[in-house]
Amino acid sequence: MSTLRFHAIKETFNRTPFPVDEPARRSAIFGANVFNETAMRQYLTKNSYKSVMGAIENGTKIERQVADQISTGMKEWAIAKGVTHYTHWFQPLTGATAEKHDAFFETIEDGTAIEKFGGGQLVQQEPDASSFPNGGIRNTFEARGYTAWDPTSPAFIYGTTLCIPTVFVAYTGEALDYKTPLLRALQTIDGAATAVAKYFDKNVTKVTATLGWEQEYFLVDSALAASRPDISLAGRTLLGHSSAKGQQLDDHYFGSIPARALNYMRDLETECMLLGIPVKTRHNEVAPNQFELAPIFEESNLAVDHNSLLMDVMSKVAHRHNFKVLFHEKPFAGVNGSGKHNNWSLATDTGVNLLGPGSTPMKNLQFLTFFINTLKAVNDHEELIRASIASASNDHRLGANEAPPAIISVFIGSQLTAVLDELEKVTNGKLSPQEKTDLKLNVVGKIPEILLDNTDRNRTSPFAFTGNKFEFRAVGSTANCANPMTVLNAMVAKQLIDFKIKIDGLIKDEKMKKDDAIFNVLREYIKDSKRIRFEGDGYGDAWEKEAKKRGLSNHKTTPDALKAKVSKKTVALFEGLDIMSKVEMEARYEIELEEYAKRIQIEGRVLGDIARNHVIPTAIKYQNILIQNVQGLKDIYGKDFKKLSGEQMRLIEQISGHIAKINTNITDMIDARKKANKISNTSKLAIVYCDDVRPYFEEIRYHCDKLELLVDDELWPLTKYRELLFTK
Ligand code: ADP
Ligand code: MG
Repeated sequence: MSTLRFHAIKETFNRTPFPVDEPARRSAIFGANVFNETAMRQYLTKNSYKSVMGAIENGTKIERQVADQISTGMKEWAIAKGVTHYTHWFQPLTGATAEKHDAFFETIEDGTAIEKFGGGQLVQQEPDASSFPNGGIRNTFEARGYTAWDPTSPAFIYGTTLCIPTVFVAYTGEALDYKTPLLRALQTIDGAATAVAKYFDKNVTKVTATLGWEQEYFLVDSALAASRPDISLAGRTLLGHSSAKGQQLDDHYFGSIPARALNYMRDLETECMLLGIPVKTRHNEVAPNQFELAPIFEESNLAVDHNSLLMDVMSKVAHRHNFKVLFHEKPFAGVNGSGKHNNWSLATDTGVNLLGPGSTPMKNLQFLTFFINTLKAVNDHEELIRASIASASNDHRLGANEAPPAIISVFIGSQLTAVLDELEKVTNGKLSPQEKTDLKLNVVGKIPEILLDNTDRNRTSPFAFTGNKFEFRAVGSTANCANPMTVLNAMVAKQLIDFKIKIDGLIKDEKMKKDDAIFNVLREYIKDSKRIRFEGDGYGDAWEKEAKKRGLSNHKTTPDALKAKVSKKTVALFEGLDIMSKVEMEARYEIELEEYAKRIQIEGRVLGDIARNHVIPTAIKYQNILIQNVQGLKDIYGKDFKKLSGEQMRLIEQISGHIAKINTNITDMIDARKKANKISNTSKLAIVYCDDVRPYFEEIRYHCDKLELLVDDELWPLTKYRELLFTK
C-alpha cells in the first residue's frame, strides 16, 4: 500500500466524533447573528427602521442620510457581538460566494483610532473585481464593477465579520452576478401574479415566489479525500473500481445516521440557526455516505442566499469534523448522484399559497389558473429550463443513467390529470349556467384540499407537482439556485402577463363573464401544453422515443443545452421583461461555456496524471513481481516451469495490454486537448472538449479500473471506493 493511502486509512481509525454543544431549544438562538427585525428595532432609529422595512416590503429607496443611521446601528450591533470587520457579500458568476473583508478600524488626525462604518460603505463598494468572470462585459464597456446593498436580504455575522448581501453590477448597469437578474425576475413575477390573483381576491397586493431547496451531499473523511488527487482537484473520482457492496441493499436510505456524520450535522445546524437559515430536515440518502439537508421554505431571494451561504458553511464546519463535503453531482460512478430539488410556489400577502388547492370552487379556479399557467410556461420554455441547470457536473445525472432525464417534462398525478381532461371539454365561448354548475360541483369543486398523498409518487420526473408546490428536481447539487429560479419565475411571469391580456380581451371584446373567459383560456392552455405532461417512467428508452415524437428537446450535454440561453425566444423573453439584456445573456452563455471547457480540461489533466504517474508505475511494479516469480519457477523447475506459471504469464500479458491501452489513450487525449486549445471561439471550444476530449475518460478509466482488480492491494496507491464510501 502506498504510504499516502496507508496513512490516510490509518488516520481514519483515530477519528472520534467531534463533540458539539447544542442548545436544547434551537428557537432560542435562531437568527441571533442576523440583523433581523428584532435587532433593527433595538439598534435603529424609528425612521431608519421604517426605511429598511419599506425597502424590503415595497422596494422603496433608502435615502443617503438614513443609510448613515442604518450603518451606524449595524456597526454597534456587530461590535457588541465581537465583530471587527465587514464585507460586501456577493455571488459572482464563478458559482462561489465572494467576500473581501475591511476592518471597522480607522485612524484619525490626532493619531488615535476609532471604529467606523458609514452609510457609503454600507450602500456601495468597488471590489477589485477584474478577476471575476464577466463574459466580456467589462472589457467591451471598459467599465468597472461595483457591489450594492440588497436590503431585502438581511446582513449577518459569520465568524468575526459582518456580511452585507449585495448585487454585483458593472458601472454600465449590466449584471455580473446571479442575484441581480433574480431580483428583477422576482419583481416581475410579483407584478404579474398579483394582477392575476386580483381576479380572485381584490385584497392581494403582493405575491412572493417561495423556494425550499433540498441539498444533497457526500461526506468523505478528509484524510481519505486528500489522498485522492481527483477528489482534491476535480471534486469527484475519475477512476476507481466499484466496491463489492454499494447501495444495492438499500440499507443506507433513511437509515440511522452514523455518529460522526450526526455530530457534523448538529454542529452545522447550530451554525445555521445562528445565521437564520431555517434548516429542518436531515437524513441519509440512497448512497453510502450520502446525506440530505432541507430547510423550511422562504422568499426566493433569501432562500438562494441561504443556500449559497450554507454550502460555504458546510465546507467550513466539515473541516472541524475531519470531513470533506462533496457537492459534485456524481462523485462516485455507479452509486446515486446528488441533486438540489427546488421546491417552488407563489404566496400572496393575504396568506394564500396560489399552488395549494382550496376548499371552495372559486379558490380552486384560482389554483387551476396558476397551476395551468405554470404548465404552459414550462411547455413553452422547456429548452430554457434545461439550459438553466446545465453544467459539466450535472451532465453526469441528466441523461446519463441517472434521475432525472435530460428531457424536461411535468408530472402532475392522476387526480389532476383527470381534472384537466374534464376542463379540456368545456364549451368554446360562453358557458351555459348548467355547465358552470356541473363544473363547480363535479370538477373544480372536487379537487381535494389535500393532494399531497396522491402526487409525488414519481421520482423520475424532473419537474413534479407535489401537492401544493412544484418540485424542480433536475437542479444539480453544486448549482446556485438563482439561475434556475430566475428562469422559472421569468417564464411564469411572462405567461401570467399573456394570460391577463387574453382574459381582459375576452371580457372587453367578447363581453364574456370573468369565469367564462378563464375557463376558455385555460382550456386552450391545457391543449397547448399537453406534450409536457408525462406520468410514466422517465428513465426508459420508450420515453426518449415518445418525447422525440412530441417535439421535446433532449440535450444530453452542456454545450448542446446552453444554446437555448441565447436563442431568439430567450432573448425576447428576458428583454421583454427587462430582466436581462442580450449583452448580459450572451456574456453568461460565454462564461458557462468557458467554465465547461475548463472543467473538462482539468479533469483530463488530472486523469492523465493519475493514470500515467500512479496507475501505470504501480502496474509495472506488480508485473515485475510476477516476472520474478516466473523467473524463479523456471530456475527451480527447469522446462516444467510452464505448467506452474501459466496463470502468472497470463496476468503479465493482461497487465501489458491494459498499460498499452491507457498510455495510447492518454497520448491521444493530450493531442485532442492541444488541438482544442487552439480554438478561440468559446462555443466551438466547449463542443470540442465535449465531443473530442471527454470520450477518452471512460476508456482510460475502464483499463485503470481493470488494473485495480489485478494488482496487489498492498501496492495500489489510490484509496479505494470501499474505503471512501464505507468509512464512517
Ligand atoms: P418532501 O420532503 O416529501 O419532498 P416537504 O413538504 O417536506 O416534501 O417539502 C420539501 C421541501 O419543500 C422543503 O424544503 C420545504 O420547505 C419545501 N416547501 C414546502 N412547501 C413549499 C412552498 N409552498 N413553497 C416552496 N417550498 C416549499
Ligand atoms: Mg422533495
